[in-house]
Amino acid sequence: MNIREIRTRVVRWKGKTVSIAPHFCTNPMDLLPLSTASMSTFTFHYWLIVEIFTDDGHVGIGNAALAPQVSKQVIDLYLKPILIGADPWDTELLWQHMYRKTMAFGRKGIVMAAISAVDIALWDILGKSAKQPVYRLLGGRTKTRIPVYASRLYSDELNKLAEEARGYKDAGYKAMKLRFGWGPADGAAGVQRNVELVRTVRETVGSEIDVMADAYMGWTLDYAKRMLPLLEPFQLRWLEEPVIPDDIHGYAELKSYGRIPIAGGEHEFTQYGFRDLLAARAVDYIQFDTNRVGGITQARKITALAESHSIVPHAGQMHNYHVVMANLNSPIAEYFPVVDVEVGNELFWYIFDGEPKAKDGFIDLDDNIPGLGLTINEKNLAENFEVIE
Ligand SMILES: [Mg+2]
Repeated sequence: MNIREIRTRVVRWKGKTVSIAPHFCTNPMDLLPLSTASMSTFTFHYWLIVEIFTDDGHVGIGNAALAPQVSKQVIDLYLKPILIGADPWDTELLWQHMYRKTMAFGRKGIVMAAISAVDIALWDILGKSAKQPVYRLLGGRTKTRIPVYASRLYSDELNKLAEEARGYKDAGYKAMKLRFGWGPADGAAGVQRNVELVRTVRETVGSEIDVMADAYMGWTLDYAKRMLPLLEPFQLRWLEEPVIPDDIHGYAELKSYGRIPIAGGEHEFTQYGFRDLLAARAVDYIQFDTNRVGGITQARKITALAESHSIVPHAGQMHNYHVVMANLNSPIAEYFPVVDVEVGNELFWYIFDGEPKAKDGFIDLDDNIPGLGLTINEKNLAENFEVIE
């Protein structure tokens, strides 16, 4: 089996979008003195779809959501020449070739997102060629179903937040995650607003539901140290991305307090990045996203490296669910509920068919669907997206 052709398409949502509350989520630009709220620029309405075609008729599908326009260029210019004519079963050699050819300007970020998209498509091909779901190539089923947590609850008016949290509880979720809306620039009043968000969700769902909270890189170490004792009474399962990803020492200091488990890693890359996080005892929960971290080829190495830790990948989506299913150290997975298009996290629902929908707080994978189990919703692409070949 050889790779015959690779097709990359960036799609941009051109349908209606729902506006989001101001202060819906903190982000790394909050510290800057910008004239407009930096959050309003934090939307992700582009996606990269990669299809790899083999000479025996298989099509592997991969995707990237990190700077998709640039990731596409990386694949077209640098990765495609490596891949055409190669045997998809040589995942290790192909990954190393892509990684080492782009070493001088790659390693992390956009280039690794591009390599990830290709690698995910290759694993999809392997599953289809072997007539097995991908998780069976990775170790098989470790769970009868995968528990998922509802991941949304953007910072909003407290009554709306409570209503949304109640909805998830009623739908059967046993865990949910909210976003902080305020950071260091918002002073003591913002500290209290953040506490109110967490208190509202905790009091709405009671003590028998897991609640997590995400600062999305929008805080500093100093601010996080101020927040920790105030958040402690609400028994968060974890505090996510309290500082920027480069501040590994800040992560480690927060974790060392032992007050609230610390989660991070959705903006970290490859086994080398995670080796450093683990060596520094920086996180309790490891949250790589398979379509950023280096694809399934890297994800399986990190799950092995971190076998005695908990891995809860960023985002739902099939490329993460198959990894979660095959690893006992992945107790739960993130799940972006199906909603009208807003921030862009939810866009994959409109691009692909086959993503499992949560039922009673669980998703399941089908033992009888080979590969990752996704197809491209071409009809919706034609109707609601601008497609850039
Ligand atoms: Mg996150």
